[in-house]
Parts: sequence; structure tokens; C-alpha cells
Amino acid sequence: MKKIFLIVLLVSFVGANAQNLTFENKFARPLSEVLTDIQARFHIRLKYDVDTVGKILPYADFRIRPYSAEESLTNVLSPFDYKFVKQEGNLYKIRNYEYARRTSEDGQKALIYLKSLYSDKESWEKRRANLRKEVRARLGLDSLLNKRVNAKPILSKIRKFDGYTVQNFALETLPGLYVCGSIYTPNSKGKHALIICPNGHFGGGRYREDQQQRMGTLARMGAICVDYDLFGWGESALQVGSAAHRSSAAHVIQAMNGLSILDYMLSSRKDIDKSRVGVNGGSGGGTQTVLLTALDQRFTAAAPVVSLSSHFDGGCPCESGMPVTMACGGTNNAELAAMFAPRPMLVVSDGKDWTSSVPELEFPYLQYVFGFYGAVDKVTNVHLPKEGHDFGLNKRNAVYDFFISAFSLDKTKLDEKRVTIEPEEAMYSFGKDGILLPATAIRSFDKLAVYFDKGRFSVLQSNISLEKKTTDWVSFLNLEDKKKISFVTTLVYNHLRSVREWHNEHPYSTVPEGINPLNGKPLSQLDREMIADSAMPKEVHTKLMNGLRKALTEEQVEAILDKYTVGKVAFTLAGYHAIVPDLTEKEEAFILENLKLAREQAIDYKSMKQISAVFEIYKNKCEEYLNNNGRSWRQLFKDYVNKVKAEKAAKAAQKR
Ligand code: ZN
Repeated sequence: MKKIFLIVLLVSFVGANAQNLTFENKFARPLSEVLTDIQARFHIRLKYDVDTVGKILPYADFRIRPYSAEESLTNVLSPFDYKFVKQEGNLYKIRNYEYARRTSEDGQKALIYLKSLYSDKESWEKRRANLRKEVRARLGLDSLLNKRVNAKPILSKIRKFDGYTVQNFALETLPGLYVCGSIYTPNSKGKHALIICPNGHFGGGRYREDQQQRMGTLARMGAICVDYDLFGWGESALQVGSAAHRSSAAHVIQAMNGLSILDYMLSSRKDIDKSRVGVNGGSGGGTQTVLLTALDQRFTAAAPVVSLSSHFDGGCPCESGMPVTMACGGTNNAELAAMFAPRPMLVVSDGKDWTSSVPELEFPYLQYVFGFYGAVDKVTNVHLPKEGHDFGLNKRNAVYDFFISAFSLDKTKLDEKRVTIEPEEAMYSFGKDGILLPATAIRSFDKLAVYFDKGRFSVLQSNISLEKKTTDWVSFLNLEDKKKISFVTTLVYNHLRSVREWHNEHPYSTVPEGINPLNGKPLSQLDREMIADSAMPKEVHTKLMNGLRKALTEEQVEAILDKYTVGKVAFTLAGYHAIVPDLTEKEEAFILENLKLAREQAIDYKSMKQISAVFEIYKNKCEEYLNNNGRSWRQLFKDYVNKVKAEKAAKAAQKR
């Protein structure tokens, strides 16, 4: 009970400090109120992807611009690192700041700025040389490339199909780390073009039907095509786990994989025409396509599909995990693509994602740079305004036409129906469940720590361990609905991450040393830690609980909370039953209610010590209740200890 008072007292003191003293006389108002006013004043609607609960905005009304809803929103949201995204009609979405995603207006300004940096081939090539160096350095690629093993890949049996063959490979890059993929080879004799095909994030990975269709069709027409798993996807997940994909390590490892496959193909295969080396991928695979062309000059034709943008770097850590767009004072994927001039490039864009601006922004910009070489016709754009973000037939046809022209492929062989769609397992290098994975293969993301900066890697690792924990907890529920699994997993992961981040950013030392007013003793480190952590914004908790209750049954919600608190409710209740053998129903109900309250409060604390301390507060309350109910907790506990001792002694005597 004393601890509750202490915490309540100190938290309210700290809270009062933050809100009243800091913002007094600063015309502060709750953010949610200000946003409601903005909706009424400008006749707009707001949809929230962020929590505004408890957020106080200083100089609130002074930030409003009576002539502009958007300027007002910018001024009001920016202190919280929120932004707005305009939707259809008068609707605006309020979101967290996203460093990799900007607006098309930003993209336009960026391209005007970039164009001002060069006006001819000479000034452009200076910039390009600097970009080449700095993108590479910011990616941290060379330290990895220098540690490669250059082993021969493990190759599967060759499977023969109509006009082409497929062979799986597993190429060891760093010691014990493999990149797996498939090589599609034309049946025709002579030297072939080569097309490296990095994969994007479409469901089904590189095994999916439209991917096999594209690989097979290009092969039938005369190009050797190589596709390979994303880091942490497909067979790579057997080695590092799927959570590893959402680490910035994925950005550099995937670049290394693409270049390693290119090295291997060009050095070992005698049937490749080195003057025809292409790269082609969609979405995240398109981002990699552009990056690979910026890193390596052996490519002679490139086709990024539904990815290229001056205002979106790619939303996955494998695309924007390393700060490559900070190169040379700031760049973007459109400028990185322009580095490919004057070699042939196709940009495929659509009307329903961030590439919708390509015809107006990125394509004219690319033409500007290609123009320095008198090669405006070497860059082409196929824009599909009615289509969305996929690698559908029209996009594949655009890619076929482009490579037919760039690499003189045999158009008469263009027929997707002749391609055999193989089952996923046929495309594995290491068999089902990785049964053939070599004994020397690494089997944990941690093993890659030696290749990365210590401080950064510890954050990566910690995120991955949180993700693993979350996945384990959620899988315990045996949910079948994939959407629900992903919703709950993200919800719990974000909560755990917020708790960790708050804890790390608010160490106990931020709470002043002080005296516990109730017992006169100095505050312990744990007391101060708990005071600091208890000041975490309430919406972190409510967001989790509301989300869980929306998606799950109450029983399932409780199961997740039990995972957070390692089953302390059941364990502690069993303890009460042992100590108070004649516990009444009413007493049990009181205890259970309080233990559940403890559980829900404890999930917002990071360490087991803290979680136990929260339970301790409620246990004191339960014991006080038992005392008030005519029992003596002290005596009950003493009796229990004596009973346990006596039982032990009896057992020991029996053994003798
Ligand atoms: Zn990714």
C-alpha cells in the first residue's frame, strides 16, 4: 500500500511539473481540441493513425493560419512529429513522421534543386562520381564485400522445361551465410544475356506465380535470369529468422547478395554475353534494381518496376535502413536511377502508388540527365494509370518489350503459357524445413553481429528478440486468421518497443533522489526506475488494450497479458490457496481481481524486477484485505512456512 502512495504521489508531482510549469502562460491547449477546432473551421475531416490523448500543444491558437488548413495542420502537428496525408475529398490522415516518405510536392522541389546542381555532362558526371562513392560508403558495403568467402555455390539438379531450364543455387557470401535462388537458362545455344532479378515484398516471395512466369518467359526468349530470396525471406529465414528482414542489415546484405550473384555468374558461366547484363525487379525489388546500378557499372540495361520515386525511398529497412539518400547533401532514387544514363532504362509506373508522379516528375527529370548524352530516347516510361502496385501482366509485358529491344531477345518465343509454374518446394536449395542446410551454416542473426557497428547492432538484435518474443506469444493463441495474427503481432511488438524505448530514454537518474515521505527512507534505484517508467504516456497502454480487445476474445487477451507477466496471476493465486487453505469464494474473487489489475499495470514495465514490484503492491493490498477480514496474514504465513518445513523434514526422515 505504501508503495502505491509513493508512486502516485511522485508521479503526480513529476507530471504536474511537466505540464503546468513548462506550459503555463504559453497558451497551451490539448492537441485533440485544437484539431477538432481545425476540422470545424476549415470544413475538413481528420482520420487519426496516431494517439493525441494527453498531448498538450503550446501556443496552440497562434499556430492556426486562417487562410490555410494545411499550413495550420503542419504548424499544429509538427511539434509532435506528426504529419498529415491528404486523402480523397476533404479528408486528411494524421500519421507519424516517416523519414522515407515525402509528398510529391517535396519530390518536385527536390528534383528542381537537383537539376540546379548540374547543367551539362561535365557537371553531372562530377556529381555522379561523388554519389557513387558516398552511396557506397553510407551503405557500408565494402566492409562486407571484403569479408566474403568466394565459395562455389551449391547447385541443384537441372529441371528441364519448354525452352528453358531451372537450377537452384545456394551461394555462401559471408562465412556460413547463404543466399538462395534459381537460375533460369535458355535452351538455345550461344551466348546469352544475363538479367539479375532482385525480389520485392509481394506475398509468396520469389516462388510466386508471376515471378516464375517472368523468369521463364525471359529465359525462353534468350536471357539467363537469376532470382534470389530477400534477406530473412524464403530459405534465408531458416538462417536468420524472418524478423531479421526488418533490420537495416537487410539493406546492405541484399546489395551484397546481388553483387555476389553477379560476380559469380560473370566469372563462372561461359554462356553469358557480358555486354548484355540487365537488372529488373518490382517494388522493393525495383529499389534494389536502382541501388545495384548505382553500385556496379557492369549493368547495361535496367528496369525498375512500380518503385521509382523522388519522394519515397522505400518503406522497408531493406530499402531505406541505411541512409544512402543522405549522400552528397541529399539525393533520392530518381537521381540514383539517373546515374545509369546513357544506358537503356525502363521505368514502369502506375496510378495508385507513389509512382503515379513518374510521368510528370521523375521521367522528365531522367530525360533531362539522359539529354546530357544525347540519349533522351534511351530512357522510357510505361505508365499504367488505372493499375496499382503489383507485377501484373501489363507490367511484365513492358519488361519483355524492353529487354527484347535492349538485348535483342527472340520475340517469337514470347508466350507465358509455355512456362511451367513449379511448386515452392521444387525451388528450395536446402529442402523442406532446411533439412540439407550445411552443418557450418549460421542459424542465428546474432552470428552476423561481428560485421556491424556494435551500438547499432544491439538495437537491431533487441528489435529482433522483441519480434521473436511477440511471434511466440501470438502463436500460442493458435489464431487462424492471418490478418488478425499480423495485427495482434504488430500491436504487441509496438507496445513492447515503446516500453523499452521509454525505459531506456528515462533512466532512474532522471528522477531526483528523494526521501520516501511515508517511511523516511531514501528512494531505492528500483523506486526511481518505476517512477520514471510510470510516466510513460497512457496511450501506449490504451492503444494495446483497445487493439487486443477489438481483435481477441477476453480469454485470449488474458493469455497475452499472462505472457507479459510469465503467468504470475495463476502462480500467485495458487500461493494464496496454499497459505490460506480455507480461502472463501469472496476472498478469492477479491484477490483474483487485484492480481489481474497488477497484471495489467505490470505490462508497461520492462524488467522482471519491476513486474514483481508491481505485483508486490497488489499483494500487500490483498493481505491487508485478509487481515481486515478477520484473518492474520502474518500468522497464516508463519503456519504455512512451518508446515512446509515439517513436510520436508518428514520426507528427509523417510529417505533415511
Ligand atoms: Zn524489405
